[in-house]
Amino acid sequence: LVERMRGFGTTIFAEMSARAVATGSVNLGQGFPDTDGPAELLDAAVEAIRGGHNQYPPGPGVPALRHAIAEHQRRNYGLDHDPDAEVLVTAGATEAIAAAVTALAGPGDEVVLFEPYYDSYAACVALGGATRRTVTVERDGAGWGFDPAALASAVTPRTKAIVLNTPHNPTGTVFGPAELAEIARVAVEHDLVVVSDEVYEHLTFDGRAHVPIATLPGMRKRTITVSSAGKTFGVTGWKIGWVCAPPDLVAAVRTVKQFLTFVNGAPFQPAVAQVLDRAETLAPAAALQAQRDLLCDGLDRLGLDVARPQATYFATVDVGTDAVAWCRELPDRAGVVAIPSSVFYDTDAGDHYVRLAFCKQPHVLDDALARLEKVL
Ligand code: PMP
Ligand code: GLN
Repeated sequence: LVERMRGFGTTIFAEMSARAVATGSVNLGQGFPDTDGPAELLDAAVEAIRGGHNQYPPGPGVPALRHAIAEHQRRNYGLDHDPDAEVLVTAGATEAIAAAVTALAGPGDEVVLFEPYYDSYAACVALGGATRRTVTVERDGAGWGFDPAALASAVTPRTKAIVLNTPHNPTGTVFGPAELAEIARVAVEHDLVVVSDEVYEHLTFDGRAHVPIATLPGMRKRTITVSSAGKTFGVTGWKIGWVCAPPDLVAAVRTVKQFLTFVNGAPFQPAVAQVLDRAETLAPAAALQAQRDLLCDGLDRLGLDVARPQATYFATVDVGTDAVAWCRELPDRAGVVAIPSSVFYDTDAGDHYVRLAFCKQPHVLDDALARLEKVL
C-alpha cells in the first residue's frame, strides 16, 4: 500500500458491520435502511433490466436522469442547470466526492474539511496527494456549530477547496443561513471551490429546510453540489449519485470519473429518473423522524446524553468515556453495534461521541434499546 494511504485500512463501517454479523448484534453502526425503497422504483428497475438497459450507459449518465436531476434542482431550490453540460451521474455520492476532490487538489494543495467528517473525504484528499485541514463542528447546547475564526484560519494560500456536508453525517445538524453565509464568504474571498455533499437533503425533520450553498450569492459558479438516490429513496446499494456544477467543474469531475468507473448503474439510472420528480414525497423523512424519536427518547430514558439530530440517519451520544473502547465492548456486552464518531475527527474533540443509526424498523430499535437497558 502506498505511503499516503497507510492509516486508512478497513473502513469503520465494514469493520463494525462484520462485528455485528459475527456477534449476532443489532447493527446500529453502518447507515443503511432495513426496508426497501418505494415499490414503484424497484419495479422501474426490474422493467429497465427486462427492457434491455444492461450495457454501458452514456458517459455523463442517461439523458432522462440528467434532465430529472436538473429539474429537481430547479423545482426544489430554484437552481438552473443545463442537463448536458452541468449535470453528471456518478457511482454514488462516494464517486462524485472522490472524483471532485482528486480533480481539485493534488500534492502541495490543501482541502478544508469539517470534522467530524464522512470518512471518504479524508481518504480522497490523501489519495490525491493533498493535505487536509479540519474545522471542528462542536456541540453547543441543543445543536452543533463551528467557530468562524477556525474556518478563516484553516484557509491558507494552498487551499483549493472546502468540503461541506449538510445535512451533516454524523451530527445530524443542518447548516443554517449564518453558517452557510460564513462558508460562502470565505470561499469567495479566497476563490475556493466548495464541494457540497447534500445526500441527506430530503431526510430533514421537524419541518427543517435544507439550503444548498449553491443558492447563496457568488456560490453557483464555485460549487459542486453532490447528491445521491441512495439516501433519498432508501436504496443505498444502487449507487446512483450525481454532481451539479458549472460546465468547467463538471468537466473536471468527469475527466476523473471516466477512469474510476467510466459509467455505472445502467438499469438504475432510468428507474431513478422516473421517480425523482416526487423525491420530496417518496423520501422516508416522516418515518425516519418517528424512528429518531423512538431511539432518542429511549436513550434519554436510559440516562444517556443524546444530541437529537435535525436530519440524517444518525443520533450522537456522549458516552463520557473513550468512544472506541465503548463501541468495541458493546457487541459482546449488549449485542448492539455502534460507531465511535471519534474516528471521524483529527482532533480529540469527538473522543466521547458514539453514533447510532436509527434508519431501522421500530421493532429493531426497540430490541436495541431493550438490550442496552440490560447493561446500562
Ligand atoms: N456522503 C455522506 C455524508 C454519506 O453519509 C454517505 C453514505 N451513505 C455518502 C456520501 C455515500 O453516498 P453513496 O452511497 O451515494 O455513495
Ligand atoms: N454512509 C453510511 C454511514 O455513514 C455508510 C457508508 C459506508 O458504508 N461507506 O454509515
